[in-house]
Amino acid sequence: MQIYDVVIIGAGPAGLSAGLYAGRSRLNTLLIEKEKDGGQIVITSEVENYPGCMEEESGRSLVARMTRQTETFGVERAQDTITKVDFSGDIKVLTGKKGEYRARAVIIATGAYPRPIGCEGEKELIGKGVSYCATCDGNFFEDMDIYVVGGGDTAVEEAMYLTKFGRKVTIIHRRDQLRAAKSIQEKAQKNPKINFMWNTVITKLKGTGLLESMVIKNLKTNEEVEIHAPEEDGTFGVFGFIGFLPQSSIFEGAIAIEDGYIPTNEKMETNIPGVFAAGDIRVKDVRQVVTAAADGAIAAMMAEKYLEH
Ligand SMILES: Cc1cc2nc3c(=O)[nH]c(=O)nc-3n(C[C@H](O)[C@H](O)[C@H](O)COP(=O)(O)OP(=O)(O)OC[C@H]3O[C@@H](n4cnc5c(N)ncnc54)[C@H](O)[C@@H]3O)c2cc1C
Repeated sequence: MQIYDVVIIGAGPAGLSAGLYAGRSRLNTLLIEKEKDGGQIVITSEVENYPGCMEEESGRSLVARMTRQTETFGVERAQDTITKVDFSGDIKVLTGKKGEYRARAVIIATGAYPRPIGCEGEKELIGKGVSYCATCDGNFFEDMDIYVVGGGDTAVEEAMYLTKFGRKVTIIHRRDQLRAAKSIQEKAQKNPKINFMWNTVITKLKGTGLLESMVIKNLKTNEEVEIHAPEEDGTFGVFGFIGFLPQSSIFEGAIAIEDGYIPTNEKMETNIPGVFAAGDIRVKDVRQVVTAAADGAIAAMMAEKYLEH
């Protein structure tokens, strides 16, 4: 069976960038993706904050160029879902639904998905009013109404960040008090642009092109109300901040994992020699395309150094 220099798991921005660098270094590289290339960013209709992306670059078009560039340098591709790994020897073994793969070094770039709000219409309206990333999409809602779902530190901090853009930011929380740290809550309560809807969940999001209305339900009274976008705006924003689902379950027991994320040092090295992690799956503060791509480049260069030794 063929033994690759490097196998990369996941073809999101981190994996594609790792593939580009590994391929250019003439490493015998295999890039495995279970779905379509691009990971989370393909569902975004406009990427404004990746350097060089201008004039209505969509996630899909950005990823298509990334894939083309990576494949130019001879990276082999496999479409498979990795379900099991064995990192105990010098040769790492990855088992997928379709086959087994062996490599001297592995780069894990499996990402972390935002936990969905869990209501009807959500999936269809992602990138059309529904978002999970304030840094990415906040400025699309300049002077509009914004709703934030969640009650933890991230939800409240991101709601405060979104007040830079929205005319009003309403935190929708299923309980009657926030889970966020007291200091964060105090700041939010003093912010005149922030409002709260307690004991409330969104049950339905509606819209033909963009998000146009939503049905909310009061969990105490069971009363449902439909909120429509102000006529002058035609739409509004709903941001979900109820946690992330890091794609790390298959690595449990094989490498160190903290709260679902893989800790690395600055060289993207995990606790297992020859196994690197890059992108959103890492323990880190900023999860963006640019940071994922940077991680991927570092991981590939460090894998090359590891292989030299
Ligand atoms: C709605 C939304 C909008 C966003 N907008 C922006 C934006 O405008 N600008 C920005 O910079 N960032 C944005 N982000 C964040 C950005 O998309 C992520 O930070 C980035 O995609 C992370 O890249 P990644 O390669 O680490 O992981 P991902 O993009 O999550 O890619 C991981 C890949 O690994 C694959 N995979 C997972 N498990 C396996 C397995 N077992 N076997 C094989 N393959 C596997 C997945 O299918 C996926 O393709 C947005 C995120 C979301 C959700």
